[in-house]
Amino acid sequence: MNNEKVSSFKESYDITLKIADKSASLVKRSFLYFIIAYIFQGLAFAFFFPLLNSIFTNDFNLNNTLFWFGIIAILSIVSFIFRWLASDFQYSKDIVQITHDLRNKLGEKIKTMPLQSLYKYRTGELNSILAQNVDESILHMGIVSGMFFEVAIVPIVIVIATFFIDPAMALALLIALPIAVPVYKWSRKKTKWDKTQGAKAHATLEADTVEYIQGLPVLRAVNQVGENAQNLQKSIGILREVQKKGLYASTLPMIIMNTLVEFVFLFVLALGSLWIANEEFTIGALLALLIILGRLSEPLANFLAVSGVLDIMEASFKHIKKLLDTKEFSIKEPKQKPTKFDIKFENVDFAYEGTNQTALKSLDIQIKDKSLTAIVGPSGSGKTTITKLIMRYDDPQNGIVKIGDIDIRNMEQTTLMSYISVVFQDVYLFDDTILNNIRMGKPNASDEEVLKASNAAFCHEFVSRLPNGYETKVGEIGGSLSGGERQRISIARAILKNAPIVILDEPTSALDTQSEVAVQNALDELIKDKTVIVIAHRLSTIAHADNILVIEDGKLKEKGTHQELFKKQGKYYSMFQAQQRVKEWNVKSTIE
Ligand code: ADP
Ligand code: MG
Repeated sequence: MNNEKVSSFKESYDITLKIADKSASLVKRSFLYFIIAYIFQGLAFAFFFPLLNSIFTNDFNLNNTLFWFGIIAILSIVSFIFRWLASDFQYSKDIVQITHDLRNKLGEKIKTMPLQSLYKYRTGELNSILAQNVDESILHMGIVSGMFFEVAIVPIVIVIATFFIDPAMALALLIALPIAVPVYKWSRKKTKWDKTQGAKAHATLEADTVEYIQGLPVLRAVNQVGENAQNLQKSIGILREVQKKGLYASTLPMIIMNTLVEFVFLFVLALGSLWIANEEFTIGALLALLIILGRLSEPLANFLAVSGVLDIMEASFKHIKKLLDTKEFSIKEPKQKPTKFDIKFENVDFAYEGTNQTALKSLDIQIKDKSLTAIVGPSGSGKTTITKLIMRYDDPQNGIVKIGDIDIRNMEQTTLMSYISVVFQDVYLFDDTILNNIRMGKPNASDEEVLKASNAAFCHEFVSRLPNGYETKVGEIGGSLSGGERQRISIARAILKNAPIVILDEPTSALDTQSEVAVQNALDELIKDKTVIVIAHRLSTIAHADNILVIEDGKLKEKGTHQELFKKQGKYYSMFQAQQRVKEWNVKSTIE
């Protein structure tokens, strides 16, 4: 259970500064002020010895007492001022600014990170990093750092100062240390386990919930609501177990620490009385000691609770850091923009991260500017992977992908994406109006432009039948849009975007014949004068392609027009024959 490493304070400090980023100097300044504040507070406590000694002495002198009192007052005021300066940072706009900057930075990261890395996160996970972890780490940072410095610095200053006043008493204060340190370490481990496991269980639960809810319509349709709730149920169960264990793990050390503080108090009282009896100690000194101990016991006991918060912060910090550290695509210099839009793969090898199986092997392909190229091949042969690499989903291990003779690594990611429209088989619609869903293709488009694109994609007819036409919210009509209609909305988006390269990944394969005709008409509108890549299952739909690439097992097997490949009687020919036979069977069985 104790496999979680407790980070050193140095590590926590470094990670804090990294996250504070531009505001690191503010954080440092705040920490410095806290340190100064608590050094002064420690000194103020230490001066209780001379103060109380001067009160309880036989030859009482008011001026003397007032002098010590004055010193304590001054030290306390200085301490207060610095604490105030340090807290000024916590409660002022700075910390809100850091939180805001960090969230923006993480958002930017999610926007630009390679999709390959993004897909490794579950939706709920990113959610909890951006919402919860950012707050946990930074908002707590201000409050916790103050408590931490108080506990860490005040006792040390008191002990050191006491050494100059009365070494024997300083030793008495030190007695607690050999016991307190191991108890502290042990309890950190326990609470650490509690907090990290707790955070993990929470994140899993959140992700499972999001996925469950997202999948609910499908699950209901197939009557699997119960079956699939099992995952969710399981993570709820795990959370309960972790919380049960965690509560025990973090409460026990706190009780022990509290008891320890009480014992030290009693021990000092007994030892002090003994020394007073032997006249080695004054009543004033013992009183001072007890006051100090009393004043210290509370923060000491609180410290364990605080260190629990430290653990939460740290777990959050780690999640944030991991996200911030994900590799970003480097853009090669000089940054270039193509003037034409032919596509080339030169000797490309690609394997998905975490697999050792190559999805593409020494792939060489040429796709001419403003041509229609079809990619065909068995499922899993690498067709989608080719289109992903054109969009720089990830960089190939070997070889170059070029657009207009320029390595796509020399292009800004946003520039590259502006050249490409993609129409997938499943269309994602945002919970917004139909109009805005189409506008997504070109965010600054006027309503007229959106309507024009909608017309061109044959959306107009079904949109005008919706209750509020273009102002209908997608969420309100839910599943009432057919696959073909959703598809046409996504084509309208692409028409509006008007990118020179269009990628169609099996867009019509899931549609019935009637929708297919409508979608095909919309597509014809979209692909005019574009460099088009179409991945299609049904070979009959791509017979008119300028070029057909037959991919098998990540390699280019054949290329040519339908006629050329047909004549060749190779892989394409046999695939085509097989599909024709299936068609004939279908026809026969409907006739019979
Ligand atoms: P196609 O589109 O031709 O059906 P893909 O390009 O999707 O094939 O897949 C090519 C190969 O890469 C397959 O073996 C597939 O299992 C693998 N693959 C696809 N996506 C991933 C991924 N995200 N991680 C690991 N392997 C993947
Ligand atoms: Mg595919």
